[in-house]
Amino acid sequence: MSDVYDLIVIGGGPGGYVAAIRASQLGLKVACVEKREALGGTCLNVGCIPSKALLHASHLFHQANSSFADQGIEVSNVSLNLAKMMNNKDKNVATLTSGIKGLFKKNKVDHLKGFGKIEGHGLVSVDGGAPLRTKNILIATGSDVATLPGIEIDENRILSSTGALELSEVPKHLIVVGGGVIGLELGSVWARLGSKVTIIEFMDHIGGTMDSETSKQFQRILKRQGIDFKLSSKVTGIDKTKNGISVRIEPAAGGEGTTFDADYCLIAIGRRAFTDGLGLQNIGVETDPSGRIPVDENLQVAEGIWAIGDVVAGAMLAHKAEEEGVAVAERIVGQKPHINYNAIPGVIYTHPEVADVGSTEEQLKEAGVPYKKGSFPFKANSRARAIGENDGFVKILAHAETDAVLGAHIIGPSAGDMIHELVTIIEFGGSAEDIARSSHAHPTFSEAIKEAALAVDARPIHI
Ligand code: FAD
Repeated sequence: MSDVYDLIVIGGGPGGYVAAIRASQLGLKVACVEKREALGGTCLNVGCIPSKALLHASHLFHQANSSFADQGIEVSNVSLNLAKMMNNKDKNVATLTSGIKGLFKKNKVDHLKGFGKIEGHGLVSVDGGAPLRTKNILIATGSDVATLPGIEIDENRILSSTGALELSEVPKHLIVVGGGVIGLELGSVWARLGSKVTIIEFMDHIGGTMDSETSKQFQRILKRQGIDFKLSSKVTGIDKTKNGISVRIEPAAGGEGTTFDADYCLIAIGRRAFTDGLGLQNIGVETDPSGRIPVDENLQVAEGIWAIGDVVAGAMLAHKAEEEGVAVAERIVGQKPHINYNAIPGVIYTHPEVADVGSTEEQLKEAGVPYKKGSFPFKANSRARAIGENDGFVKILAHAETDAVLGAHIIGPSAGDMIHELVTIIEFGGSAEDIARSSHAHPTFSEAIKEAALAVDARPIHI
């Protein structure tokens, strides 16, 4: 047995690597075990970062073909070099993952390459080697792609998000199963690069638990961009054909089925917590019915065992995992951090972007919370008009009596950056009036937030 660690983190994704760095800053002796060659987890390797690289590049390509001319920029022979686009994405991913390696070095976190297994309380082995001793174990093993019963993802014609980030040709027709964040983002990428994209969704709306008004407008915008939707539909099987695949679908409520032929199908129905081979049985821990690790309000599994990120309940988001990683590190040294899960934003990086924080109108209605609503459309925002970004709105929901901001929903340019003003307001318990009274630089998209806050009190200026 080697030295005793204060903390061994299993998993080097955004939850695990951030926890390891924070714990080291707090003076703990820390190691982080990662089975992948590169650090950064799903997020950096096959998630947030490569998808955003392709969303950006495909947006530029689409703009060059569609909206440059409106702005007096005449380009001809715009062509796609997909291999180069993929190469550039891979280069950016590699830069970022090696950056984490550098951060580990700087913070004196031991990076243990290999598969981590819990051999017992305070014992972790790497690739079956002699167990290392540790006072605390943090499980940050994240998630993996999920599929539908009877459908095998072969990453050839039937793809997971990982396969859809690495295609070597533009599909003629891509069927996306699942109208959630990942399906909509990757569907957008390939639609912009020239694919016909059909999204099949079980629910009668896209965007999962998204605010319903936002979801409806978002779908209309994507439809205008050429994406087809089959809502309230379930996939019952996928058959391989000579040139691709044939997807069988039925109405979600049952009824006569139909088939869609395509060359590729992306399964984007969600992700499953990953605990394979982790040795949970050695510490007497069982996963919940969804396969996640049960934790208490402090993210503790048992004495000296903690779990965070995609492997526990809650939104599967990199920044949620990071907040939890920091919280666990601080709790281990006796601090009392708090995570406000209601102030964790969600963003869909399509064009326009969609971002939200706090409650939806549906949630407030269900909880019987009295609320006021203020909306402001981007078509009345001077900066958006100046550059032809007229789609979308900002909507603020505030308590009817106290005026405290309870939720905010934005579809529009840079929504993913703009939402943080509303995150901060919710975090500080601020009101719509606080936003309305704050100066917002002109001309900015953020003025739409001020106007929506003014609209909560029925006094917007520019509409
Ligand atoms: P992960 O990032 O999954 O990291 C877990 C790590 O643990 C992995 O590297 C895995 O190899 C390792 N591991 C597992 N078991 C072991 C073991 N036994 N031993 C050693 N290592 C092990 N989130 C956002 O917030 N914004 C986005 O824009 C966004 N885009 C996404 C796009 C796509 C296509 C996908 C798939 C996901 C996206 N996500 C996004 C979700 C985000 O990637 C995850 O929520 C986040 O990565 C979760 O972090 P984590 O640390 O909990 O787990």
